[in-house]
Amino acid sequence: MAYVSMKKMLKDARAGHYAVGAFNIVNYLTAKAVVDAACDLKVPVILQTSVKTVKQFGIEEFMSFLRPICENASVDVAVHLDHCTDKEYAKRCMDAGWSSIMFDGSKTPLEQNIKDTLEVKDYISGRDISLEGEVGSIVGVEDDIVVHKDDAAYASREDCEKYLKETGVDCLAPAIGTAHGVYKGEIKLNYDLFKEIDDISPIPLVLHGGTGLSDEMFGKLIDLRASKVNISTAIKIAYCQGMYAYSSANRDENDPLKLDDYVYKRIYALAFKHINFFTLRKGSINDE
Ligand SMILES: [Zn+2]
Repeated sequence: MAYVSMKKMLKDARAGHYAVGAFNIVNYLTAKAVVDAACDLKVPVILQTSVKTVKQFGIEEFMSFLRPICENASVDVAVHLDHCTDKEYAKRCMDAGWSSIMFDGSKTPLEQNIKDTLEVKDYISGRDISLEGEVGSIVGVEDDIVVHKDDAAYASREDCEKYLKETGVDCLAPAIGTAHGVYKGEIKLNYDLFKEIDDISPIPLVLHGGTGLSDEMFGKLIDLRASKVNISTAIKIAYCQGMYAYSSANRDENDPLKLDDYVYKRIYALAFKHINFFTLRKGSINDE
C-alpha cells in the first residue's frame, strides 16, 4: 500500500462507520509496533507525532526513519503532526515529508484561528497533505500545551459551522468533553453536541483524548461517525511501564534488544486491540 495523507482513509471511515486509530508514537520501536499491528489487521493507521517528540529527534532525522516504515507497510499509513500551534514549524514538517498536519489555533479567538488555519492550508497548495483543525479547547496536557479545566470550552455548533465553511479543512476536532492525559473524576461527554456538529459537517470529525474511555463510549462515538480516534497517553504508559516491568524482572540481564522486544510486544498488543475495536468492532479496548 502506501504512505498517504489522511483524506481518503477518513472519508472511507466515515462512510463505513468505523474509525481510524491515530497513535502518538515516540520513536522507531513504537512506530513499527503500531504499523505492524495495523498490517496484521489489514486496516489503515495514522502515526501521530507531537511537536515535542519531533523536536527531540529533529525534523529530518525523524522523517528519515518513519518514511521507510510507512512505505514498506502493507496498509495505508499517514504521518500526522499533532497539535501544532506554530505555523512555521508546521510548514517545515510539511516540507520534510509529513503527510498530514493538525494546526491547533483553538487557544486563539475564532477569527484568528480561521486566519491562521487558512495560512497553513495555503501552504499545502496542491500537495496531498491533509489538514486537521480544532474548535473549542480540549482540557488536559498534550505536548506541554496545558488547558486547565476552567479554560476548557466545549465547541459551539455555530463556531464549528463558521470554521468549516471558511477554512475547508479535511477533518475537525471539536471539544466535546474528552481530555488529554489521565481522566480525573467522572467523564462527561456531550454526545448530542458531537452529533449536532457531525450533522452540519461535510468532513469527518476527530476524537481527541481517547485514553481512558470505555468500550461503550468509544462505540457510541464511532456510531455517531467519529472517524479518527487519538491515542497518546496509553502508549506512553505502556512504553514506560513495559520498560520498568522488564528491567525490574531482569535486573542483571542488560540486554537492550530483549528489553526493546518486550516493550515492542506491549505496544503492538495495545495498538492491536484499539485498531481491532475502532475499525472492526471486535474485542475490547480495556481487556488486559
Ligand atoms: Zn489532542
